[in-house]
Amino acid sequence: MKFWFITGSQFLYGEETLKQVEANSKVIVKGLKKAPFPIKYKLTAKTEAEIEKIVKEANYDDDCAGIITFCHTFSPSKMWINGLALLQKPWLHLHTQFNESIPNEEIDMDYMNLHQSAHGDREHGFIGARLRAPRTVVAGYWKDPAVIERIGNWQRAAVGAAFSRSLKIVRFGDNMREVAVTEGDKVEAQLKLGWQVNTWAVGDLVKVMDAVTDAEIDALVSEYRSLYDLDEKDMDSIRYQAREEIAIEKILVRVGAKAYTNTFEDLHGMKQLPGLASQHLMSKGYGFGAEGDWKTAGLTAIIKAMYPEGRASFMEDYTYDYKHELILGAHMLEVCPSIAADRPRIEVHHLGIGGKEDPARLVFEGAEGKATALSMIDAGGRLRLIAQSVECVKPFQDMPNLPVARAMWRPEPSFLKGLECWLIAGGAHHTVLSYDIPAETVRAFAKIFGIELVEINSESTPEKLERDLMLGDLIYSR
Ligand code: MN
Repeated sequence: MKFWFITGSQFLYGEETLKQVEANSKVIVKGLKKAPFPIKYKLTAKTEAEIEKIVKEANYDDDCAGIITFCHTFSPSKMWINGLALLQKPWLHLHTQFNESIPNEEIDMDYMNLHQSAHGDREHGFIGARLRAPRTVVAGYWKDPAVIERIGNWQRAAVGAAFSRSLKIVRFGDNMREVAVTEGDKVEAQLKLGWQVNTWAVGDLVKVMDAVTDAEIDALVSEYRSLYDLDEKDMDSIRYQAREEIAIEKILVRVGAKAYTNTFEDLHGMKQLPGLASQHLMSKGYGFGAEGDWKTAGLTAIIKAMYPEGRASFMEDYTYDYKHELILGAHMLEVCPSIAADRPRIEVHHLGIGGKEDPARLVFEGAEGKATALSMIDAGGRLRLIAQSVECVKPFQDMPNLPVARAMWRPEPSFLKGLECWLIAGGAHHTVLSYDIPAETVRAFAKIFGIELVEINSESTPEKLERDLMLGDLIYSR
């Protein structure tokens, strides 16, 4: 995907100045080539008609993930109103300037008229604010790596938004009986985020499983061997997981879906709950949510689309160590090996829930480092995205009898306050654990879609959070 760079100017200063504005804009765009996604210089905008035309083109160009605007000179904002009112793509207002410093001898009124983003970008900022347009503003010199990083943070959100708008999620079976937080308004999710969430019969999945050939299974098992350690005596169970994985992926490809859910309560005709199968599919970029959790499945897929080489997994807060102030996260089976600290092992163990055969699964410890736990809930009439900063640590003990992948982390602002904040916000027990996504990207993503965002970080307190949620009730009850 590409981003379009549009420079604001006007005819007031003459042809020579406009030529210089265009040339300088191209130099700036070239300087931004270290951003994660390509930026293309499109236009120096001088008229209302040009702006309306370029916005319409951006809206309908599937490869355009967003626009970046910058006013090299003054660019009167009334000529931007009609165009920006039509804008349907994410918008970054880059407040930069071609030259880093003010020269001494060379500065005269011509210089000032050419290099006046301090002036022009204020007019541009006003119209963004006046239009209540969702936008991200980044100020800084364009050669500064920190500025390029921040542009990248926004680009990731915009790419995730484009992915979200066409995301299809397959549900094999319904929500786990009686569970509340995994429920939600699918029509609202499609209206706000574009997600198409639909159900597909487990019986049809079983039919596709039955048609998987030995040769297909052989190929996938040799891929498992290249990535994971395994015990040859477990081959039957491992091959059965390969059969499930191949069949699930065939249906996802047929539907055009990038995420799916299943539930241990509906495995009609299946011998094992998909474990290794779902783990390996996640590592290939598919989103997954257990027990019918389509919201976490979708969110996992989006974060994987933002960071294709990144580390993100479906996760569940499982049990606490109050003494060490840590959360142990895991699931019955389905944790993505992209977050593994070391090479995972395939193991076969009994699974007490669901009454099926012993499933093969990947077992490993999650990596250390800063991460974010994200949860999307249906807050009644609106979606709420909750993002908590956490510190993942190496588990302080081996837990040799725990037969699943696991991660351990401490939430911000502190263990207990972090737990209180999470519960006050209504965050689910299911999350996406991402080692890549910064707060700025989460913020930009929520802003693009106009959904409620609750951030829990080192500055959070339960008292402040309660006030913010009350404000949210006012804002989103409109
Ligand atoms: Mn669960």
